[in-house]
Amino acid sequence: MPSIFTKIIKGEIPSYKIAEDEKHYAFLDINPAAKGHTLCIPKREVDYFFDLKPNELAELTKFSQKIARALDKSLEPIRTGVIVEGLEVPHAHIHLIPIYKETQAFSLGKKVEVTETGMGKLAEQIRQKVEL
Ligand code: 5GP
Repeated sequence: MPSIFTKIIKGEIPSYKIAEDEKHYAFLDINPAAKGHTLCIPKREVDYFFDLKPNELAELTKFSQKIARALDKSLEPIRTGVIVEGLEVPHAHIHLIPIYKETQAFSLGKKVEVTETGMGKLAEQIRQKVEL
C-alpha cells in the first residue's frame, strides 16, 4: 500500500506544496512544530532514511538545502533546523524547522497553531523564494 506521502506526491491527498523536482517533493507539515515547518521527501518510496542509496541521500540533502534557503529568505528565522525521525510515516523525509528564537522548543512533540488560510499564505510566501 502506498504511503500517505506517495499519495500526496500523486495529488490524491492535498498538501501545501512548496516545490518539486523530478525526484523530490517539499510541502508544509500539517502539524507544524514552528511556522513554516516543511517536509522534504524523495519520490521513490523508501521507509528508513538510511536505506536510501548514497546518491539519493546526497540529492535529497541538496534539494532540502534549496528549500531551507527559501525558508531563510522568506520567513527570516535565526536559522533553519533539521530533524530526521520517521517514526510516524514510513516514507523517508527531512523535517526543516525554522528557529525564530534561541529558546524555541525544537522538538516534533511541540506543535504550533496555524490556520488553513495561514498555511496557504505561508506556502505562497516560501514558494516565491524557492530557486531549484
Ligand atoms: P515522523 O514520521 O518523522 O515522526 O513525522 C511525520 C510528520 O508528517 C509529522 O510531523 C506529521 O505532522 C506529518 N504528517 C503526517 N501526515 C501528514 C499529512 O497527511 N500531511 C502533511 N502535510 N503532513 C503529515
